[in-house]
Amino acid sequence: MTYQVIARKFRPQVFEDLIGQQHVTRTLCNAIEQGRIPHAFLFTGTRGVGKTSAARVLAKALVCEQGPTPRPCNLCEHCRSITAGNHLDVFEIDGASNRGIDEIRDLREKIAYMPSKARFKLYIIDEVHMLTSEAFNALLKTLEEPPEHVKFIFATTEAHKIPSTILSRCQRFDFRKIGVGLIVDRLVDICEREGVGAERSVLTTIAREAGGSMRDAQSLLDQVISFSGGNLGGAGLSELLGLHDQGKVLILLRALFEGELPRAFTLLREIDEAGHDFGRFLLALIETLKDLIVLSVAGEAGAESLDRTAEELVELRSLAGLRSTGEVELINDLFLRGHQLLHGFEHPRLLLEILAYKAVLVDGLIPIEDLVQSVREKKKT
Ligand SMILES: [Zn+2]
Repeated sequence: MTYQVIARKFRPQVFEDLIGQQHVTRTLCNAIEQGRIPHAFLFTGTRGVGKTSAARVLAKALVCEQGPTPRPCNLCEHCRSITAGNHLDVFEIDGASNRGIDEIRDLREKIAYMPSKARFKLYIIDEVHMLTSEAFNALLKTLEEPPEHVKFIFATTEAHKIPSTILSRCQRFDFRKIGVGLIVDRLVDICEREGVGAERSVLTTIAREAGGSMRDAQSLLDQVISFSGGNLGGAGLSELLGLHDQGKVLILLRALFEGELPRAFTLLREIDEAGHDFGRFLLALIETLKDLIVLSVAGEAGAESLDRTAEELVELRSLAGLRSTGEVELINDLFLRGHQLLHGFEHPRLLLEILAYKAVLVDGLIPIEDLVQSVREKKKT
């Protein structure tokens, strides 16, 4: 049996499978149910959030034997050949490699012919913003007088590069970045189905690293599984993969808040020895402190606005109880200014250590000049 990458194996086959995009799928389903199907759809959003998957599900919804239906059967000839990528009336075009006027002219000629089997001819154009302006002009002529039997589904990561004349003829759907909690839930589900033992903390690290992209999260999971031999619990896994570990951020903050400087220094040494990027670590610290402030100022309403898993929220609430909001703000200010100093600084760990003891000492105002001065003095020695 050939190995199938997770992203392909678990590709959404129905609208319900698309995670974190209910605002899009609900509108699409309503439009299909009411028979108000536009000639051109535009799916926008960052990479790996489900645009192409949604386009394929929409294609099935439109040409399924049972359709047009919001719930394509995935069993009929049409659905199955779309899954297999060989439906005669569904064309997937990569806008980046077919960006010229000739390709679009060719497309316009073929559009005139009726579909061979399905009720529509569907053109899915990925990365549509890559088309040349001549190609866009040719496409515009088709969009101005679209034949009844043709539907377009455009996908792009950069909607601002699409001419407004095209935009105004599309129904636009903005896909969102997917929250860490939703990605973790999906990864847990995948691991269970794959028979892979995985600690939730490892999956959280992967999800956070993916930055809102389900596809990135899934390919990271692929790497981690092949690296670990199917048991994602091993200590040091994130170090070995060079993943940024949110857990370490929380451990460091607890050490600082509890005044445990030696513990903080040990952790910083470990991070240094693992070759991690202190700039990213410091940014994660700043973001976490910001979240702490949101939690203490806005309470539970604030918690909902944060991109945090339930486990992280428990620790954040506990941390928020250790220091006053004012102190947390001072520490965050300290780290923010430290981050500006970090660029081009030869000894990032030293800077982090200075920031650490400054943070432990925070119990009132610390002038930034002191920080700059102490960095300079340390540098001289
Ligand atoms: Zn079907």
